[in-house]
Amino acid sequence: MVISDKFDGGNISVIDASDPLNIQLEIKPDNASDFFQWFYFRLEGEVGQTCRVHIINAGQASYTDGWKDYKVCTSWSREDWFRTPTEYNNGILSFDITLEQNAVYFSFFQPFSHERHLDLLSWAQEDARLNLETLGQTLDGHAMSLLHVCGTDTPQHTVWLIARQHPGETMAEWFIEGLLEALLDRDNSQATQLLQTTEFYIVPNMNPDGSVRGNLRTNAAGANLNREWQSPTMEYSPEVYLVREKMLAVGGDLFLDIHGDEAL
Ligand SMILES: [Zn+2]
Repeated sequence: MVISDKFDGGNISVIDASDPLNIQLEIKPDNASDFFQWFYFRLEGEVGQTCRVHIINAGQASYTDGWKDYKVCTSWSREDWFRTPTEYNNGILSFDITLEQNAVYFSFFQPFSHERHLDLLSWAQEDARLNLETLGQTLDGHAMSLLHVCGTDTPQHTVWLIARQHPGETMAEWFIEGLLEALLDRDNSQATQLLQTTEFYIVPNMNPDGSVRGNLRTNAAGANLNREWQSPTMEYSPEVYLVREKMLAVGGDLFLDIHGDEAL
């Protein structure tokens, strides 16, 4: 068995993979805090082999209510994802797979990779009503990217949307991708009408460092960005500092902070 998390967003620690029917794994905590629940790994073996995976520290994860009736995200192609049932007993999360191909990927929620994030910025900027701006850099050197969408010279309303302060809540950026597709669709009369009166400032990923590192909840310094808005600093929470400065400069009428939920 070969098990790897050495890729964008990967997270798993191999305790014992010598027996395919008793593969023992642990989720790694965020790099600078104790939160953990996000995992993402590749399992590779012989076609036709049945494997039984146990995540043995699931019972110490941040939101254990989430393991009840949980179905693990599974993919052969990394494009198409489906759900595999799990069992949760005595703090251990277990699931089975029979290998139809050599390698299969498992993830807590469907991943939204940094490459897909960069793709989103690129296709969105092709629309003349959208402006892409880099507010500054994170501690790991990622760009803090802001999208400004405006279809008029005289907007009456300003709406802010930020997503994925908690990097393990990948559905927040899937939401932004779908929202942008709808908002920029010139055949969507409601969106076209909305952009005549309302401008949007959108941060598709508030925590790129945590996303790439495979963290659940915090940035590279261990900051829970959700709790940093009162007094952020460039040393500990530059993501919030940079966005907040821009927000204070341009103002806003409505602010939406998009999250997922680990326990539902
Ligand atoms: Zn959250």
